[in-house]
Amino acid sequence: GARIALFTRDLRIHDNPLLSGPGEVVPLFVLDPRLAGLSPNRQRFLHQSLADLRGNLRERGADLVVREGDPAAETVRLAREVDASAVVVAGDVTDYAQRRERRLRDERLPVRVTPGVTVLPPGAVRPGGGADSYRVFTPYFKAWERAAWRAPAATPGKIAMPAGIAPGNLPETPAGDSPGALPGGETEARRRLRDWSLRMSRYDEEHDNLAADHTSRLSADLRFGCLSPLEVAVAAKSDDSPGAHAYLRQLAWRDFYYQVTAAFPGISTVAMRPAADTGWRYDDDALRHWQDGLTGVPIVDAGMRQLRAEGWMHNRARLITAAFLTKHLGIDWRAGLKWFFRWLIDGDVPNNSGNWQWTAGTGNDTRPYRRFNPIRQAQRFDPEGVYVRRYVPELRGVDGVAVHQPWRLPEPVRRGLHYPGPLESQRDEAVWLRD
Ligand code: FAD
Repeated sequence: GARIALFTRDLRIHDNPLLSGPGEVVPLFVLDPRLAGLSPNRQRFLHQSLADLRGNLRERGADLVVREGDPAAETVRLAREVDASAVVVAGDVTDYAQRRERRLRDERLPVRVTPGVTVLPPGAVRPGGGADSYRVFTPYFKAWERAAWRAPAATPGKIAMPAGIAPGNLPETPAGDSPGALPGGETEARRRLRDWSLRMSRYDEEHDNLAADHTSRLSADLRFGCLSPLEVAVAAKSDDSPGAHAYLRQLAWRDFYYQVTAAFPGISTVAMRPAADTGWRYDDDALRHWQDGLTGVPIVDAGMRQLRAEGWMHNRARLITAAFLTKHLGIDWRAGLKWFFRWLIDGDVPNNSGNWQWTAGTGNDTRPYRRFNPIRQAQRFDPEGVYVRRYVPELRGVDGVAVHQPWRLPEPVRRGLHYPGPLESQRDEAVWLRD
């Protein structure tokens, strides 16, 4: 019989091991109603990606079969219907994915797990070759870079699929709630990758410059697998510019947090260092100010407003806003993680949780007590205030670097801005407010 290719977070035909090998294939995606309504931005991106995938499969003589319900149950039902010989699915690390895989195996269907969600499968490299996972990034990166990567899968020209299977309808694409969110789908993603390949060589110099906005913006494409992380990494490795090497290192962070999550599945709620997970405040009012981008600290508010406007935030701004919530306001990192997860199109459990724990100092960081002075960060990474003025319209009339400290402006000017004063610190010695 044919094999069922169960698409999950690998919504692409390029370098997709699900599609390699001889014989007939039934490409399947199961819409799980439990995931509906979770995040409108990711729902939108997902539906756009599914429509694009269906188009690409049809061009190759196949189709995307769409079912709705519990993914494991629906896969088993279709497998019985078409008398499938096996189910092929990409290996993934989250609780949700692991449960799905276990449930498929319980049905005594031959299940084949293929790579494709990360460059290197979690566990492919281990410290000292033992059974442990890496907790510190730099040694992981060295091993990751040196390891033998699999060869990318060939892109199928034609895909043989058995006749007579009702494809099922794709529901209408939900609206999402960030007007500036990038559109999903492999076709768009490949266009972005081509464009990025021409700009990658300046990544080392520009990636922290908030105004320049010189990062790849491929994170959602990687999140939904519209791009193969291996393909992107191979492109970076074959370019010997310092920018490409810096970019490769960043891609390895993604793999790093996947292997951390494989070893520590509770990562989104449980602190990796429980001793550091204490003393949090629960202040709904301060939390709301942070969420709404009304903390009165312009660089923080700019980031938080970019998040809502685009369903994405620059990495430097993610660091600044997350540190402000946890280290300045003293609010539990889990509240911040949830809010990011609500808006980010690239939001995923390993990277969101890994990075939040890193900034909160509850994770694997080697310097958990680092502080982020938001003003120094702003002066360094947005020296002209361009980023702030882009996202905080109240401050558009304030020129230059003065925009980062509106509380220092003469009283009448300040009043005219209709912009709040800065939220008090609950943890830091907030010297930056006074100097
Ligand atoms: P680029 O700078 O072009 O980097 C290329 C790719 O490398 C990214 O697409 C991403 O896949 C990977 N990458 C880069 N930085 C990191 C990092 N620190 N950790 C893991 N992978 C990285 N990234 C997510 O993909 N999903 C999340 O939910 C997420 N939540 C975050 C939460 C916080 C508090 C912080 C500080 C960072 C978070 N990141 C998350 C990491 C990072 O900010 C984004 O991956 C990056 O900003 C995406 O934009 P880009 O594609 O232009 O990145």
